[in-house]
Amino acid sequence: MNMLEKLRRFMEGRYGFDSLGRFLFGVSLVFWLIAGLLRFTPFRRAHFVFWLLNLLLYGFAVYRMLSRDIGRRQLENERYLVRRQRVLPFLERLKRNRSGDPGYFFKNCPNCGAKLRLRRIRGRHRSRCPKCGKAFSVLVVFGQK
Ligand SMILES: [Zn+2]
Repeated sequence: MNMLEKLRRFMEGRYGFDSLGRFLFGVSLVFWLIAGLLRFTPFRRAHFVFWLLNLLLYGFAVYRMLSRDIGRRQLENERYLVRRQRVLPFLERLKRNRSGDPGYFFKNCPNCGAKLRLRRIRGRHRSRCPKCGKAFSVLVVFGQK
């Protein structure tokens, strides 16, 4: 019996990997990296907290994979997917706001606060807010010439 066959036998009747599992492993990896970085700083307590969180998440992820209570694990995964469905559009919006069309960027008018869509042309420019009519200067560091 080779290793793969052994593993297959072992996993028989157990839940295995899913979206929530991937998420848990991912977050625990991030915590592990943060804990590793904090190790060399005076923030001993923060290091301990991240290390503990990493361990808990990792432990929960492994526990779910090996669990035989498949119905319950599926329910957890579905709950996770529903939550993710709610958060994703919000993240998408943030991303679009930041980049979106690379030829433009958003800035609030320094006078009235209106959200303005400005062309991304490198250099310092004078611009006029179409809402309140006030002129202001804009500095674009990264943009077309
Ligand atoms: Zn304005």
